[in-house]
Amino acid sequence: MNQRVLVIGGGISGLTSAIYARKSGFDTLILESTVNLGGECTGWDRQGFHIDNSIHWLLGTDPYQDLYKVWCQVGALGPDVKTTPLDPFFATDTPSGRKFHMYLDLDKLRAEMISFGPEDEEAIDEFISALQAYGLMLQNAEVPMEISSLRYKLRFVWSMRKVIPIHRKFATITIEEYSRRFKSEDLRFVMNCYFPKGYYAEALLYILGYAVKGNTNLPEGGSLALEQRMERKYAELGGKVRTSAPVEKIIVKDGKAVGVQLRGGEILEAEYVISSVSPQLLLDKMLDGRFEDGFFHSRLRDRRNFPTFSNTVVYIGCEGDPGDIDSTAILKVKPFRIGRRLHDHVLFHHYADEPHFAPKGHFVLQCLMMQYEADFETWKRYHEESAARYREEKKIMADALLQRLSEKFPHLAGKMKVLEVTTPMSFHKRCGSHKGSYMSFIRTPYAGTASHTGRIPGLKNLYVGGQWTICGGMPCAVMSGRFATQRLCHDAKVPFVQD
Ligand SMILES: Cc1cc2nc3c(=O)[nH]c(=O)nc-3n(C[C@H](O)[C@H](O)[C@H](O)COP(=O)(O)OP(=O)(O)OC[C@H]3O[C@@H](n4cnc5c(N)ncnc54)[C@H](O)[C@@H]3O)c2cc1C
Repeated sequence: MNQRVLVIGGGISGLTSAIYARKSGFDTLILESTVNLGGECTGWDRQGFHIDNSIHWLLGTDPYQDLYKVWCQVGALGPDVKTTPLDPFFATDTPSGRKFHMYLDLDKLRAEMISFGPEDEEAIDEFISALQAYGLMLQNAEVPMEISSLRYKLRFVWSMRKVIPIHRKFATITIEEYSRRFKSEDLRFVMNCYFPKGYYAEALLYILGYAVKGNTNLPEGGSLALEQRMERKYAELGGKVRTSAPVEKIIVKDGKAVGVQLRGGEILEAEYVISSVSPQLLLDKMLDGRFEDGFFHSRLRDRRNFPTFSNTVVYIGCEGDPGDIDSTAILKVKPFRIGRRLHDHVLFHHYADEPHFAPKGHFVLQCLMMQYEADFETWKRYHEESAARYREEKKIMADALLQRLSEKFPHLAGKMKVLEVTTPMSFHKRCGSHKGSYMSFIRTPYAGTASHTGRIPGLKNLYVGGQWTICGGMPCAVMSGRFATQRLCHDAKVPFVQD
């Protein structure tokens, strides 16, 4: 078969689409605008340290889940790739000044919660049994529902048997609303501290439920190593790549995508095109606003019900060891300014378990500060003003943070240096992430659990993958990439080959 598929974007979704299309016998070419593949899932070196840009936990590390098989088929995971559970999933300072641990052992977690809120026994037991129920649920990673067999649908529904009775209860309220079930102020804080504002409560429960089942482990080597394993897999299959090849337009003839035009004017023809870029880039730029897509346009236009979030991230190179800093911890610091807002909590993640991420006797401390759309606009304004202003604002913020860290972690005072600062604007500039969001739209109760159909109404031979078609994050990137190729194979009447 000599049918050609052009894949726009070489992040996890684009790589996945291309790997499966190649396995299924298509001639494939990935067109990536930057110099490297990987998109948001990447890493780079700075001053002798390694900066890991993405994975804090990876959904799909439980070998009994379909999603694990998908990660293995695309070369990202496998029996040779060690994954480690994050236990506790996180630790956090609470309003009363104590430290809470979100343990993954449910007996230990229950005891921890009771010690913080003995008056909340009923709500705690409801929380624990919800984690057990959500942990058993299958991710729909095998095939898009509309082309799945009845047997698959039944298997999926069966995996949800314990979730169905509680789904409405948790999918229709935000985490903030859910947290009001707890009388203890500390437990209310714990429920709210990890996820961005606005997420529906079910997100918290299924992520933690999966974590309890060992389904959100950290893969050895981090984001860059995972992406490079996929890249190797694709190269072994004979797939082609062009980096520094930004797609400007998708060429449409008689209601069919027939190729693309690169910046600079070069035209590439193909039987099929798969896009994995953010929806605003796809619809407004590459398709010139000529196609109306209900799913994406409702989200792009309704900013209240479909908000986005991001992070400003400061990477610190530290001499010594983390001492009692948990590997993931949300800690209170003296307030400091980022853009126009004061922050007094920072999410820390350290990579002391990755010996290749730092010189001997050192480690990398990653500090994440939650950012919303208004914060993105502030960073964008600094950037538009001048590169110097943008750099200066990053420096002021990083210096203020460094000073707070020296107070918070006296054993590291004088032994820390700023390696890198990334802002929502960095993600926007590098990957074209809409509003600087690297995790798609926030899943609010209003947004529900709907996914994109993977096709643009009125346009044939274009398939849409990318995290924005589901709900954000690595699992959505890999699943949507697979689904795009499955839909293509289905329409082309070509068997989809996964192994
Ligand atoms: C700080 C941070 C922490 C994260 N933590 C986690 C985590 O713990 N767990 C998790 O699951 N996820 C996490 N993520 C999110 C995860 O990395 C992303 O969800 C995932 O990598 C998205 O993959 P994608 O392929 O859908 O999109 P992208 O990675 O955005 O890929 C799109 C690609 O398209 C390219 N492109 C854009 N425009 C064009 C064009 N015109 N022509 C050609 N190519 C173009 C981009 O350069 C990019 O390579 C994190 C991300 C960040 C930044």
